[in-house]
Amino acid sequence: MGRSTPMHADGLFSRMLLLAAMCLSSLPLRAAETLIYAARLIDGRAPKPATDVTLVVADGRISRIVPGFMAPQDGQRVVDLRKYTVVPGLMDMHTHLMSQHSKEAYTEKFFMEDSEYALRSTVYARLTLLAGFTTVRELGDNGVNSVALRRAIREGWIIGPRIYTAGKSLATTGGHADPSNGQKGRFREDPGPVDGVINGPDEARKAVRQRYKDGADLIKLTATGGVLSLAASGQNPQFTTAELQAIVETAKDYGMTVAVHAHGAEGMKRAVLAGVDSIEHGTYMTEEIMGLMKDRGTFWVPTNMAGEWVAKKAAEPGYFPEVVRPKAAAIGPAIRSTFQKAYQSGVKIAFGTDSGVSVHGENAHEFELMVEGGMPPMEAIQSATLQAARLLKIEDTLGTLEAGKLADVVAVDGDPLQDISVMKKVVFVMKEGQVFREP
Ligand SMILES: [Zn+2]
Repeated sequence: MGRSTPMHADGLFSRMLLLAAMCLSSLPLRAAETLIYAARLIDGRAPKPATDVTLVVADGRISRIVPGFMAPQDGQRVVDLRKYTVVPGLMDMHTHLMSQHSKEAYTEKFFMEDSEYALRSTVYARLTLLAGFTTVRELGDNGVNSVALRRAIREGWIIGPRIYTAGKSLATTGGHADPSNGQKGRFREDPGPVDGVINGPDEARKAVRQRYKDGADLIKLTATGGVLSLAASGQNPQFTTAELQAIVETAKDYGMTVAVHAHGAEGMKRAVLAGVDSIEHGTYMTEEIMGLMKDRGTFWVPTNMAGEWVAKKAAEPGYFPEVVRPKAAAIGPAIRSTFQKAYQSGVKIAFGTDSGVSVHGENAHEFELMVEGGMPPMEAIQSATLQAARLLKIEDTLGTLEAGKLADVVAVDGDPLQDISVMKKVVFVMKEGQVFREP
């Protein structure tokens, strides 16, 4: 992502070019500048909105924020967002862009080619971006398709959010992300570390290194059972402490963070103690675990939407296979009550939806569930901006609207501090200075 100046060793000519570039950059490059007028601006950091300011965007970045509405000079373009609320580009820390759950989801892997997954994901990526989410973590696909999606977006072949992907999630044999769960007889496979299934610390290390080789940005593992897998328990611990430690140590060596799916308390606690970066879902989080997470600075990504969605579908006769339905009915509603307690306890919360379980592009509904769960609207917005950027360790370039940061700017129709549901009414989306949606 870094922008480097090409410096060739061969002397005078390149130095002259550099000098010319420096002279040019001290001139007001107005042709490239956009002025964004905001009557109400939530910057992601300040506890109150700013009023009546102009964001000056140049070269993909916010070059400055000035009080009042600057009159445009030649070539400067004005985007008038005075009727709306301007917020930083939103960040969803838990998505699955390769899929969207349906009754057919369990069998599509037998019928769909990788190329079809990849092409379909471009639709989900577009919906996500147009919903105001300019950055996402992709927490588990079926191989390396999300690496290709990330590239297609970076190269401008298609439009979508900036993606930080885990590639294939790690599981143990029969665990939540074992891709062969539920397969019978002659379809039965025994996947290994290359496919993200490990048993023992050595295989754990190999699986992390494989993700690095595949081009993943971070590691996702499934420390406990899960709702949608074809397996009996949604809560049992599925990694040993030694396996978790091997993953965390190896991931650190490669500059990768570790995101952990967990519902049950035992697997969650082992993961927190092993030093992972975030707990996803965290359904049966105990007070002891909340304390450990606060001590260690572990983030929680609640995914209230996933809980709501599986609980709703569990009530629909025949929607889920019978091994899944009772798990969905029990675990789904439990996330809500955990949210209230964990928020009160002061655990760090980063916004995440598990979209791909629920419908892509509806991500902002999570804000409503967070506010219903007792979180003030401003904090809910910060969980999807500043806090998410901290979890991704990109706080120096994204997450707030401040001079010098990348220009990811979104506007919503209304005041989310009065009515959080307006986060669903996105009217303007800019990512790195490029406009994808306008009123
Ligand atoms: Zn998930």
